[in-house]
Amino acid sequence: MRIDIITTLPKLLEGPFSDSILKRAQQKGLVTVAVHDLRAYSTNKHRSTDDYAFGGGAGMVMMVEPIDRCLTALRAERTYDEVIYMSPDGELLTQSIANELSLKQNLILLCGHYKGVDERVRQHLITREISIGDYVLSGGELAAAVVADAVIRLLPGVLNDETSALTDSFQDGLVAPPVYTRPAEYKGWSVPEVLLSGNPARIEEWKQEQAVERTRKRRPNLLND
Ligand code: SAH
Repeated sequence: MRIDIITTLPKLLEGPFSDSILKRAQQKGLVTVAVHDLRAYSTNKHRSTDDYAFGGGAGMVMMVEPIDRCLTALRAERTYDEVIYMSPDGELLTQSIANELSLKQNLILLCGHYKGVDERVRQHLITREISIGDYVLSGGELAAAVVADAVIRLLPGVLNDETSALTDSFQDGLVAPPVYTRPAEYKGWSVPEVLLSGNPARIEEWKQEQAVERTRKRRPNLLND
């Protein structure tokens, strides 16, 4: 899989992909994450990519032309399954959207800044809009990193234990059960006895019960859907 991220702030995206699981996924050749500086596609000598809003009002707007040029250059290289604009009013990111995107070959994530992008970008150049929640960030970079992380960890071979993504919250419509590690007792705080029982069937049953119980308490909406 390949994920191309278009941004005016490429430095913001250096961190998330340079360590741990996301770094290893790239080293193993399971995914390529490429960050593109939109300024390289600017048409003016100041390399600016934004301008004042027509009709006035506070805040700059990202111009259509550099974005179009950047997308054209990328599309000349390969076919993209989706060109996604990160936007607070987009479709809310869920595990099922992450699952769906993890089955694609090539994705573009477009990060907005300031007031966002010229509406014509949204009308003509993108295929989908995704939000990571009902709050406003200063830019789309962190949101794009969230989408990329959620997608990449699902790719086969990325997590060491191939089944482990399947036992995470939301995959089966439930949140995850609690987990414990050594020591079995700390400051008098003990681990549920069943986990030390060595009885796989009982342990599995307990995990399932805990997951249902937690979902009822924390995310009852998942049980109704
Ligand atoms: N004026 C816009 C907000 C712009 S925020 C509005 O009111 O809708 C600047 C950029 O940050 C956006 O273009 C988008 O790319 C990104 N962004 C902000 N909040 C986001 C969220 N919740 N999910 C995804 N992207 C977000």
